[in-house]
Amino acid sequence: MELFYEPRITLLARPEFLEPSHLPVAWLGDGTGGERLAEFAGRLCYMSQANPAKRPTREYLDNIKKQGHGSVLEHANYSLLVEGVSRSLTHELVRHRAGFAYSQLSQRYVDESKAAFVVPPAVIGDEKLETAWREQIESAQRTYVTMVEQLMERYGWVADRVHRRKMAREAGRAVLPNATETKIVVTGNVRAWRTMLELRSSEGAEMEIRRFAVATLRLLQREAPGFFSDFVFYVAEDRREAAKVEYHKV
Ligand SMILES: Cc1cc2nc3c(=O)[nH]c(=O)nc-3n(C[C@H](O)[C@H](O)[C@H](O)COP(=O)(O)OP(=O)(O)OC[C@H]3O[C@@H](n4cnc5c(N)ncnc54)[C@H](O)[C@@H]3O)c2cc1C
Repeated sequence: MELFYEPRITLLARPEFLEPSHLPVAWLGDGTGGERLAEFAGRLCYMSQANPAKRPTREYLDNIKKQGHGSVLEHANYSLLVEGVSRSLTHELVRHRAGFAYSQLSQRYVDESKAAFVVPPAVIGDEKLETAWREQIESAQRTYVTMVEQLMERYGWVADRVHRRKMAREAGRAVLPNATETKIVVTGNVRAWRTMLELRSSEGAEMEIRRFAVATLRLLQREAPGFFSDFVFYVAEDRREAAKVEYHKV
């Protein structure tokens, strides 16, 4: 049985900025496609392409966040492939509606007989707890396999095999735990990512989603520092990492 001890997060897509030749910007400093796109959109509002304040891109974006001009950040979208997370994590994640798109592995279409599971962070490192947890998981998966087999027989009269499998799996998944591993593609604009990551990297957030938020922040900070550099990591009293943001909910 495959167990996950941390999420696997892969960047799938980033913005590509195509500068219009009739409205060039006097860029300064480094900038990725996403950062340039947001700066371009911000500058259009005041037709300040000449960059009279001589601001490098990342300084310009810092000022955008400081002014709370967050709609400018909505132009830049990033897509992540998120794996090695539990169904309970994604249940919390998809509550973030504004500016996000989700596509998640279907337990009705996909066979979960060999599903992986995510070890709850609080359990990691305690052998006794981990063994007890694992026994429950293994038992649940065995029951799932038996249930799907029996349901396939029970509904043998359904001629469409795909439909019959779906009927069996959608009932069988009722015994699978919250810890079942899932995969989800998440696309969000930078304003939405910032709001979600602020909430979920905070000390009040549940441990697994907090760990996910911290890892996602690291990835996005590397990818586009102009958008995320005001998030600061620290180790909280519970000895787990968390993050604080300077510009709250832009
Ligand atoms: C620590 C923590 C504990 C939680 N505990 C619970 C819990 O016990 N039970 C529970 O049900 N949920 C819980 N939640 C989820 C929480 O209630 C929100 O559903 C979740 O954080 C998404 O926040 P949001 O609605 O601001 O996000 P989004 O949907 O992404 O919205 C972002 C922002 O857009 C604006 N917006 C979005 N939709 C609307 C709208 N329809 N009308 C007006 N403005 C809108 C708001 O300003 C909103 O903050 C918890 C969240 C956290 C972080």
